[in-house]
Amino acid sequence: MTEFQTWYEGLQVERTMKALRKNNFDAQFVAKATDAAGVIFKMIPDGVTVGVGGSMTLNQIGFFEEAAKHPIKLLNPSAQQLSPEEFIRMRRKILLADVFLCSSNAVTEDGKLYNIDGTGNRVGAMTFGPKKVILVCGVNKIVKDVTEAHKRAQEWAAPMNAKRLALKTPCAETGVCADCASPQRICNVYVAMAKKPSRTDITVLLVGEPLGL
Ligand code: SF4
Repeated sequence: MTEFQTWYEGLQVERTMKALRKNNFDAQFVAKATDAAGVIFKMIPDGVTVGVGGSMTLNQIGFFEEAAKHPIKLLNPSAQQLSPEEFIRMRRKILLADVFLCSSNAVTEDGKLYNIDGTGNRVGAMTFGPKKVILVCGVNKIVKDVTEAHKRAQEWAAPMNAKRLALKTPCAETGVCADCASPQRICNVYVAMAKKPSRTDITVLLVGEPLGL
């Protein structure tokens, strides 16, 4: 990265954190992805139940390796071979975990969070249920506003995730959203958080490296 890119990105992160705080979110920054899991575990007390939503970012920062060193009860539906019924049961349990972790599809420079979801479990847990939510977002997730956030999520993240998960959707074939009616559609729910939901303590941990989709 050139010094000009570093300068630009630094100011963008600063602007975004200020706006997030104005919207009642807690905003923190860590420069290196390898330090992110350590920062996260300063916010998670021993003995609690921690649920996770599907997230490439958590894998990339080594969250699960770090979690194995801590006395928490981890609910990770992707960690084991679960039947479809068990998978849904665990996702329901996660809605009542003490802490919920995942990423956000986009973070806007005016301090809003934007997500799309197929089942709704991720956006459900982000907004109500777990008292503490930690959203880990690489700087590549920062966009100007909600319009750009939707474009990013629908035109970039959704097709990429559909491909990654080998879903039977038009975008997994063509890379272009066809506003499909596929049973495996991954963008049924659009949620913009304009301000922190009143009963949920949300920390946005921005990481100074590109992470996730
Ligand atoms: S609506 Fe369908 S085609 Fe468009 S991004 Fe979502 S899953 Fe893909």
